[in-house]
Amino acid sequence: MKEEQKDVSTVILNQRFHLKDVHGSISMPVYAGAAFEFDTAEAMEQAFLGKSGMHTYSRISNPTVEAFEERVKQISGAEHVLAVASGMAAISDTFLNIAYAGSNIVTTSHLFGNTFSLFYITLKAFGVEVRFCDMLNPAEVDATIDDNTCAVFTEIITNPHMEVADLKALSEIAHKKNVPLIADSTLVTWPQFNGNRLGVDIEVVSSTKYVSGGATSIGGLILDHQTFDWSKSPRLGELAKTTGKTAFTVKLRGEISRNLGAYMAPQTAHLQSLGLETLALRFERSSHTCKKLAEFLQTAPGVQNVNYNGLPTDRFYKLSCEQFGEYPGSMLTFALKDQTACFQLMNKLQVIRRATNIYDNKSLIIHPLSTIYGTLSDELKKMVCVPANMLRLSVGLENFEDLKADILQAMK
Ligand SMILES: *Cc1c(COP(=O)(O)O)cnc(C)c1O
Repeated sequence: MKEEQKDVSTVILNQRFHLKDVHGSISMPVYAGAAFEFDTAEAMEQAFLGKSGMHTYSRISNPTVEAFEERVKQISGAEHVLAVASGMAAISDTFLNIAYAGSNIVTTSHLFGNTFSLFYITLKAFGVEVRFCDMLNPAEVDATIDDNTCAVFTEIITNPHMEVADLKALSEIAHKKNVPLIADSTLVTWPQFNGNRLGVDIEVVSSTKYVSGGATSIGGLILDHQTFDWSKSPRLGELAKTTGKTAFTVKLRGEISRNLGAYMAPQTAHLQSLGLETLALRFERSSHTCKKLAEFLQTAPGVQNVNYNGLPTDRFYKLSCEQFGEYPGSMLTFALKDQTACFQLMNKLQVIRRATNIYDNKSLIIHPLSTIYGTLSDELKKMVCVPANMLRLSVGLENFEDLKADILQAMK
């Protein structure tokens, strides 16, 4: 953490801008235009060479997005933050920055649906191989890495399997073989989660979720802790000779983000910047409610099991507490008798909404297998291991008693 002594809300709310607004606005204005003008050709040259810190064109950088990136940097402790158009843009930009034909990604098949499809289908067409292994088994991860492994990738808590990655163990294995650890840290945000402390080199985040301020917009973040030595990377090694530990970021900002053109829109950055102002409050409220609902569901009629890593009975409880504290986010899953029972319960809910997404201000429920994984072939469905009798509940800001009452009436 940059400002470890201060509360995260204080840090966010106390942020000053890199250049003072001409009107003294205390909120960063939305600079919605595409291009920025210069007084002289020399000043323009300096800006294009990245020497003056001035903005040139909003696909490359923008003052509103820059202020948002700075806020995330302050609370996450990352050395560099790039904001992009979606969580998937964060993951695809990251891998297009480091992977190459003939390289492989070591990960698990327990992944967010589109991440699975990006690795297994999209990147395969470019000669990048994905190697699925059991990430809960360090020896297997170790044995799967080879000289062409460009990264070990994991979600800090797999969605919707709710498996907690042992990040310190994974980073030790990866670093021993000169491979970076990249983690999707969408499910638990900072400061509850501190990737740097746990050996994560690069974090990718869907800021659509907690950060956006309650599903206001789609966005993504790439955080570089600049802890990895890229000099032995086949793709970045040459660049690292002159840029050292900043090689990932230099290439990402200077080449990949510009060429792929998925930089965050200023309107989105404005909304998500406001989202950060209430992040800590929302996280506290929804994660506390989630834990209470998980405890209630454990005793509810017809519920076969409940997965929430913050329950002392959960198999990942100890590791989860070490990495995320007592409240690992506000998403849980639970199992009923079968898919029919899941659909029946969903159809009777009146407060909890039938919708995809997580970490909205509203509580949302979904039957993952028939929706998120619905179009996968039977073979792929087996690979992703999502049971047919499982529901996923993302807990919002409503009152605990009201949510409990809604579930109870639907169970009748
Ligand atoms: C939602 C999500 C994504 C994708 O993010 P988008 O903003 O929808 O592109 C990636 N990883 C996880 C864990 C997610 O929950």
